[in-house]
Amino acid sequence: MAVERLAKYKIQFIKLKNGTHHFNFQLDQTFFDCFENSKITEANITADVNLHKEQDHIFDLDFKVSGEAKMVCDRCLDDFYLPINNHFNLQVKMTEKERENEFDITYLPFNSYEINVANYLYEVCHLALPMQLKCADSKTKECNKKILQKLEELDINNQESISDPRWDELKKLIKTEKK
Ligand SMILES: [Zn+2]
Repeated sequence: MAVERLAKYKIQFIKLKNGTHHFNFQLDQTFFDCFENSKITEANITADVNLHKEQDHIFDLDFKVSGEAKMVCDRCLDDFYLPINNHFNLQVKMTEKERENEFDITYLPFNSYEINVANYLYEVCHLALPMQLKCADSKTKECNKKILQKLEELDINNQESISDPRWDELKKLIKTEKK
């Protein structure tokens, strides 16, 4: 099912003449739902892919993604729209003997005629995500203050309820000293 839905991200490069060829894809929830571990679900992202070909059996793909994705804030758990902008350049080489792919070089069998760019588009979008997601990254909203306050209160309560025998001794000492 997912494989079928991703079929439209195939580029048949064999029939392309030397030069630059432009492709455009829309990445939305149907796209990201095809990937089991996707951190992005609802999204409105445009992907521009430029294929530069100057000789046979080698070309490069320039990926540019821009748009936004609906994310959940790590701090206040509110939804917010995160701008997604990223750029990646991939070299594609066809080889007669099998070679392991590198970070920015993909090797294809010598008789290949097409490449599916879905996985690359997925990766380029995910590489744009910050380590910590927070509302302020939306540039349009701040964290939900009420929730933050509640979480802070909960945190304080939690700390108080955790009893550490060493601290208990210390507390007793402080109390006796105060007398
Ligand atoms: Zn937030």
